Amino acid sequence: MNVLSHALIPVIASSFDVKRSRVESESSYWNAKRLTFLAVCGAAPDLLDPHLYLASRLSSWSHGVPALLGVALVLFSLSRAGKFGLETRLAAWGVSAYALHLCCDAISGGIAPLYPLSPVVIGAYYIPPVLWPMLDFGFLFIAYFLRFALPRWLATRARATGARHRGDCNSSGQG
Ligand SMILES: [Zn+2]
Repeated sequence: MNVLSHALIPVIASSFDVKRSRVESESSYWNAKRLTFLAVCGAAPDLLDPHLYLASRLSSWSHGVPALLGVALVLFSLSRAGKFGLETRLAAWGVSAYALHLCCDAISGGIAPLYPLSPVVIGAYYIPPVLWPMLDFGFLFIAYFLRFALPRWLATRARATGARHRGDCNSSGQG
């Protein structure tokens, strides 16, 4: 998959991280800064070791479990030290986004999860490269809908319902 899809998939996944009883506070938790962090974590394996071809990916230090463990160590250490306002919850999402990238690459070509310790490759082209641009477009649309269009529509509807409710209360008070 392309780097855009890798960045967008965790952003889309985070939109399901909503506790129904606290919709307002949960939606404000996932602000632009946290979503950007999540997108960067999702794209990180490609950003840390850019490559064009599958052969380069299969010998990439950033596309394996050792790198994932390193990223987890860094993020959870920063969160524990209280640095950069990184909460444990956000660190866990960041590590998951990195792991998700590796899973997606495994089904779109393969990865060598223990490289450089072992050259053994897992996965295959279950999602062929010809589909990747379409996935970018699809994920972009879904992310826009879930993270921008839908919250705006819900907020507008909530305001309208609130205004109608206040109107009803006022008119019944007058009667
Ligand atoms: Zn990758």
